[in-house]
Amino acid sequence: MGKVMMKVKGYECERCEHQWVPRCKDASPRVCPGCKSPYWDRPKHSK
Ligand SMILES: [Zn+2]
Repeated sequence: MGKVMMKVKGYECERCEHQWVPRCKDASPRVCPGCKSPYWDRPKHSK
């Protein structure tokens, strides 16, 4: 058995701080699975 480095990229919601790992690499999440916000990648105070 060989050793492997498992690096998994995940996302963190700027709104509810929910963290999750996408199942599909190519699919970028549109909404946060936690709060269902489409603006999960943007801080609240950004205008
Ligand atoms: Zn969220």
